[in-house]
Amino acid sequence: MFDHSRRNLAHWFALSMGGILFAFAGVGYCLNVEDQLRFFDEELFAQSKSFASKTQYMLGQNQRARTLSEKDMPLSGGLLYARWYNSDKQLVHYIGSSGAKQLTAEPGFQTLQERSPAEYTETFWTRQVTIPVLQNKQLIGYFQAAASLESLRSRLNQARLFLALGVPITFGVIGITGWVLGGLAMRPTRRAYQQLQRFTADASHELRTPVATVLSNAQVALIPPEDPLEQRLRLQKIAETAKSMSTLINNLLFLSRHDGPLAETILKPIDLSELLRSLAAEFAAQATAQSLNFSTQIPEQPVIVHADANLLKQAIINLLSNALKYTPAQGKVQLRLFTQSHRAVIQVEDNGIGIPASDLPYIFDRFYRVDTVRSRQTGGFGLGLAIAQQIVQAHHGQISVKSVLAQGSTFQIELPLKI
Ligand code: ADP
Repeated sequence: MFDHSRRNLAHWFALSMGGILFAFAGVGYCLNVEDQLRFFDEELFAQSKSFASKTQYMLGQNQRARTLSEKDMPLSGGLLYARWYNSDKQLVHYIGSSGAKQLTAEPGFQTLQERSPAEYTETFWTRQVTIPVLQNKQLIGYFQAAASLESLRSRLNQARLFLALGVPITFGVIGITGWVLGGLAMRPTRRAYQQLQRFTADASHELRTPVATVLSNAQVALIPPEDPLEQRLRLQKIAETAKSMSTLINNLLFLSRHDGPLAETILKPIDLSELLRSLAAEFAAQATAQSLNFSTQIPEQPVIVHADANLLKQAIINLLSNALKYTPAQGKVQLRLFTQSHRAVIQVEDNGIGIPASDLPYIFDRFYRVDTVRSRQTGGFGLGLAIAQQIVQAHHGQISVKSVLAQGSTFQIELPLKI
């Protein structure tokens, strides 16, 4: 699926960029030809004018001169021939090849294909200019000259060769770039897809065991009972398992609903001191029931952050529940709140079983449990810390942990203070 999309991306990229490349190369070549030809024409026109005025001067000096030869007036500036016609377009003088006796060409520039005099089969291209000659605003004749286009043609041939090699090579580079960019563009989608696949697989795996438990207990409970107490126990087991499944489903829904940063409109100024005091009151009773020493360090004055109170409460509850779950009787659990350079810091510290250093990098991953046996015993799915992290990050905060196996753990939430 991803390779197909990547190929499609590369394909469309190469087609669009290739199209632009071909268009640019074509337009560039045409503009280059036009430019070179204009330059050539300007040069030919200037050479022709200078040659014409020089010969006009000579003819003026020697009124009786009937013919002009290359000896009198050698052709200069790359001119192949020079011809003079009278106002009736009849050939009067010429140097180089004579051409037709009657002028047929219109004033202006023409490109002509000529045969080389030496080898008659060879042809070459020339550019010819025909200029009307005026005296006192009266047409007195025409001057015609031409120069070889061969040097211009060879320059254009070189440009065409360059394009013929350069364009396909660039097109190949565009294709490779498209493939690489396609790979880069697909990377986040591929990662998100893999995450989703892993998440779905983990969720299905987590649900399979309780569903099997419910099914087997229900099947046995359907058989007419020998001992009514046993049937009652089985129904109790079904109810417990269904409850835990419901918790898991709620957690999964929570994770999928609260993804990404929260909208500013949802966030309200919350007094963390007050929120933590009310949570501490709720957990104190549970801690006493578990023979745990639960204490708090919460400042008297308000500590205000911008937050969704219910979500933030859920994140702290998850940390406190874990501390109580993973600390054996007679242990200590402490809840602290303080401020530190524009940040509110909440710490949940316990001296419980701790987390091995090798597990710490993965502790906030979804469905990650340090030890499935100890989590199963406490009924955890490995989602509590993932939910806490998602909530804290949605509030532009950070969550971190420090833990030493068999010595205890400290979970810390940092949130930006409302200024
Ligand atoms: P669970 O619901 O399994 O507790 P969590 O995401 O809350 O899932 O925690 C992930 C794992 O991190 C747990 O399986 C547990 O092993 C470990 N853990 C979390 N908090 C503590 C703690 N305070 N002390 C020791 N281990 C902890």
